[in-house]
Amino acid sequence: MSWFHYSLIGTLLLLLVACKDEIPQVDNEPVYKTKNVVVIVIDGPRYSETWGSSRRENIPVRNGLLSEGLMVEQFFNNGVTFTNPGHCALCTGVYDPLANNGSQLPHYPGIFQSFIRYKHQPPYKAYIVTSKDKLYVLGNTQKPGYKNLNRPYFDCGVNTNGTGGYRADSITMEHILHILDTRKPHLLFINLKDPDSYGHAADSMGYIRAINKTDEYVGIIWDRLQSDPFYKDQTTLFITNDHGRHRNGHLDGFVSHGDNCSGCRRIELFAISPDFKKNVVIQTPYEQIDLPSTIAELLHFPLPYGKGKVMWELFE
Ligand SMILES: [Zn+2]
Ligand SMILES: [Zn+2]
Repeated sequence: MSWFHYSLIGTLLLLLVACKDEIPQVDNEPVYKTKNVVVIVIDGPRYSETWGSSRRENIPVRNGLLSEGLMVEQFFNNGVTFTNPGHCALCTGVYDPLANNGSQLPHYPGIFQSFIRYKHQPPYKAYIVTSKDKLYVLGNTQKPGYKNLNRPYFDCGVNTNGTGGYRADSITMEHILHILDTRKPHLLFINLKDPDSYGHAADSMGYIRAINKTDEYVGIIWDRLQSDPFYKDQTTLFITNDHGRHRNGHLDGFVSHGDNCSGCRRIELFAISPDFKKNVVIQTPYEQIDLPSTIAELLHFPLPYGKGKVMWELFE
C-alpha cells in the first residue's frame, strides 16, 4: 500500500471516530415557519370535561381558537398515568415509569437538553415553568453523556428551584409572562396544576372552575405570544395533559387517577401553528411520546432516544 492509501485509510478512520458520538448533523436551514414552541400541560382534567363535553363549555377559549388550530381527538397517555411519568413522556418521548415525587431523573434526555445541545443554544432559551416543584427533574437525565449537561433554566414550585411545594397557577402565570418578556425562550414548557388539585380534594365544582380558569390562562398566553413580534406567527402552541382521571363509576371517579382506565388514559391535544392545518379535528390516534418527536421536527433538532413518531398529519 502506498502512502496515499495509508493516509486515505487514516482519514476514513478519523472520520469514523469523529462521527461515532455525533448524532445527525444539524444545519441551520429554516425548514418551517415555527421558530418557537410553547407547551402548556394542564394537569389532570379528563377528556370528558375538556373537548369531550358536548358543548365544550369548560374550554370556551380553546374551542374559539379551533378555527385557527387543530385538535387531535384520540390522544393518549399509554404509560403510567401520574404527573411525573406523564410529563416525562411528553418531554423525552419515552414511557419512563419514574417516581412521582421528584426523587428520580428521567432515564433519557428530553427536548430541552437536546435543543440546547444540538442547536447550540444558551440554556435560558429552553425554559421549564411549573406550578409543581417536583417537575424540575424534567430538565435533567440519568443518562451518562447527557447528565448535568446542557440543562435548561427552570422555575418550579414555591421556591422556583424545585423545592417548597406546589404554588398557585396565578403565580406561575406571572412568572410565565415575565420570562416571555425578559428571556424570550424558544422552547417553553409549562405545567398548570389546579384541575388536578381540586380533583384530589373531591371538589367537583372547584375542578370544573379550574378547567375554566386554566383555559382563560391559555388565552392570555396565546394573546401575549401573538402581540410580541418575537413570537407572532412563528410560534407553535400545544395544549395537552399529563393524564386524565378515573371515569365515572370506576373507583372514586374524578377524584383520583393512576391506572389504565379509559378516563385516565384519554387526554387532549390541541395545537396552533403557522405550519399546521387549521380548523380540523384529526381522527388518527396519537399518544404522548409523539409530541416531543413532533417538536424536534418543528425546531429541527434530533431527539436520539425518543420512541414516538412525528405526527406528519398535523402539518400543512
Ligand atoms: Zn394527581
Ligand atoms: Zn383510571
